[in-house]
Amino acid sequence: MADEQDELLRQVRQVYVDTSARDFPNSCQSRAACCHFRNAGHVPFLTRGEALVAAKAVRARGLRKIAEHPDGACPLINTEGRCTIYESRPFGCRTHFCKEAGGIVPRPLIRDLVQRLEAIDRELGGDGGRNFHSAINQALTELDGKKSRR
Ligand code: SF4
Repeated sequence: MADEQDELLRQVRQVYVDTSARDFPNSCQSRAACCHFRNAGHVPFLTRGEALVAAKAVRARGLRKIAEHPDGACPLINTEGRCTIYESRPFGCRTHFCKEAGGIVPRPLIRDLVQRLEAIDRELGGDGGRNFHSAINQALTELDGKKSRR
């Protein structure tokens, strides 16, 4: 079971690699505007695989839980305005939903990648995208459960 999940999370990471290899018409300028959820006007939704990949990176930083940021920013942005789980950031963070990067990548260019994430989600027993905070906290709880069963 653990091997099966590891393989599915490897597939999520491969979707991220393939996303980076795409030549999108707009590109991230690392201004982190979309990391300020309240200003950007939306919060990313994560599939179960994305949440588990992000949760492992969060746990590697020693955090047990993520909390709402008082100013409405992502709790994973640091004081220098950088993502602290950059390599494991979710798909939505990679498809430039902020205006500064030129807006969201047109759906036809990422449809196959989204479909792959949805298929992995089903394999992992997920039920579609969930709100950023609850998806990652649920995944962190799941990681805790696994550890205590060992
Ligand atoms: S996970 Fe990283 S890239 Fe995504 S919103 Fe949070 S700080 Fe920004």
